[in-house]
Amino acid sequence: MQRTPLIAANWKMHGSTALVQQMSAALSELPPTNLTIVVCPPATLLPRFSQVSSFALGGQTLSHEVSGAYTGELSAELLQEAGAHYVIVGHSERRTLNNEDDALVAAKLERAVAAGLIPILCIGETLAQRQQEKTEQVLAQQLDAVYASQPELLAKSVIAYEPVWAIGTGESATPEQAQATHAFIRQHLAQYDTQSAVRAKILYGGSVNAGNCAALFQQADIDGALVGGASLKPAEFAQICLAVTQGAKE
Ligand code: PEP
Repeated sequence: MQRTPLIAANWKMHGSTALVQQMSAALSELPPTNLTIVVCPPATLLPRFSQVSSFALGGQTLSHEVSGAYTGELSAELLQEAGAHYVIVGHSERRTLNNEDDALVAAKLERAVAAGLIPILCIGETLAQRQQEKTEQVLAQQLDAVYASQPELLAKSVIAYEPVWAIGTGESATPEQAQATHAFIRQHLAQYDTQSAVRAKILYGGSVNAGNCAALFQQADIDGALVGGASLKPAEFAQICLAVTQGAKE
């Protein structure tokens, strides 16, 4: 079964209306393909993007609550109204800086799906965990927290494997390291639902750029990327989008 590719841009707390225009212009020049592009700008820029772009949009996080007295939070419905169809859940920066634990990540993902947003679930190990050979244990725990009790959520999710040590460091996982870990993730997902595991899009994230993306996209279990820093450069991001469509796999 051939999975169609997906490239997501995580702008974090960067960007401007000028960058919205530049990104829209750069991506509009790409040839039509089966690639899904999802840009996740700061939420304030979502309506602006909706006015000028045809690709999909996403939030960078959401509240696990439907509504209420939660100052500064954004619900799934508010994100949708602003133009989002996707939402990043459990990014390592949220896990670390905002103390989002596995239980909260699971609640957020459940809320996203209930509202009709497609969650991009981020999982990944720290450098210390990799050095202690705990990568598989950590990833299994992060996945189990979400899917073990609700395996039906898997068919509605995208997974992003983002080794924490590779995010924003310029040090990407090697294609071989990434493929081995993606293969483990897909095998683990099969415990919840074999069909959904085969169909699941598993993105790689962590210092992806125009120079290293082609080798990553050649790997059998890498279905695209979640791109941070390089997604702020329209021409480079467009090159990454082009590379994934050119790296057709068996
Ligand atoms: C990210 O923040 O999800 C990310 C992968 O960032 P970068 O591409 O800059 O490593």
